[in-house]
Amino acid sequence: MMSEITNEKVRCLIIGSGPAGYTAAIYASRANLSPVLYEGMQPGGQLTTTTDIENFPGYPEGIGGYEMMEDLKKQAMRFGADIRIGVATAADLSAAPYRITIDGEKVMETDTLIISTGATAKYLGLADEQKYAGMGVSACATCDGFFYRKKTVAVVGGGDTACEEALYLSSLASLVYLIARKPYLRASKVMQERVMKTPNIKVMFEHNTLGLFGENGVEGAHLVYRMGEEDEQQVDIAIDGFFLAIGHTPNSGIFSEWVKTDEVGYILTIPGTPRTNVPGVFAAGDVADPHYRQAITAAGTGCMAAIEAERYLLEKGL
Ligand code: NDP
Repeated sequence: MMSEITNEKVRCLIIGSGPAGYTAAIYASRANLSPVLYEGMQPGGQLTTTTDIENFPGYPEGIGGYEMMEDLKKQAMRFGADIRIGVATAADLSAAPYRITIDGEKVMETDTLIISTGATAKYLGLADEQKYAGMGVSACATCDGFFYRKKTVAVVGGGDTACEEALYLSSLASLVYLIARKPYLRASKVMQERVMKTPNIKVMFEHNTLGLFGENGVEGAHLVYRMGEEDEQQVDIAIDGFFLAIGHTPNSGIFSEWVKTDEVGYILTIPGTPRTNVPGVFAAGDVADPHYRQAITAAGTGCMAAIEAERYLLEKGL
């Protein structure tokens, strides 16, 4: 049986519930835009999968990722934001009011749209990545690197992110393995040079990861050298932390027919603003940010998007 379509019209619709979405909801509700926010597949976003956040200003003792997102949500609700469970499954941004389908059945019409759907870190797809999630496996060195001071870690990847993460970790950990599947790094020359000049980064070219091992957390990784070649060789390394840096996928798919993105899918905004090429549609947080990807920068752009939405509605007399 076909589900009944219910239309509802709002002035400000926010899709996504990480720091960008919740911050946009705080600002939009305080500006009387009566925002409705749909939380998406992972309420609270990527931060709910990390342990403590120690670099968000204002928390001298740090705060749990999940707890922080709950606090942001409560703060938005205190000012009247309507926060709902639901996933945006389709979008029609061809003309205002814009139409967003939720869970494949309900259509929301909105004058302004804030896209804060985040990005998803890519994983290798090993069962051990799940097994050791939060127990030594991480996709964010800036978030979790601090816990590996004077320890040994591995970073997987050969791009700029992997080099950046390896360099960051090299200032904390005693030894960093950089595991690259090719005989060269894809990263920019300058990043490669920095990596090569850092004495406690050991680049393991032509290595793939088969699995992880450890009793109460990651204690090592099973690697294979020159996989599929005649001289293929199994190599085990002892590590305390395993960092993925093989890229992120921005969650922009349903909007990309209308809003401009780069070749990877990151939404392009007018520099210094969260404005997209579609008037009244704004992008905030990691879905539009291949560079910084921090909770604080996401929150900052969420704030900017709500202020832009308010100004847009005022200008249009809506
Ligand atoms: P990239 O797509 O550039 O690199 C991904 C890396 O992960 C590649 O080396 C790739 O290997 C490797 N990889 C992918 N899948 C696997 C797999 N299954 N197993 C093993 N390795 C795998 O992503 P980045 O996140 O590094 O960078 C994204 C963009 O952001 C780039 O344009 C980059 O230049 C930019 N950036 C710039 C920075 C700066 O300028 N400071 C910092 C960070 C990012 P392979 O090479 O074999 O394909």
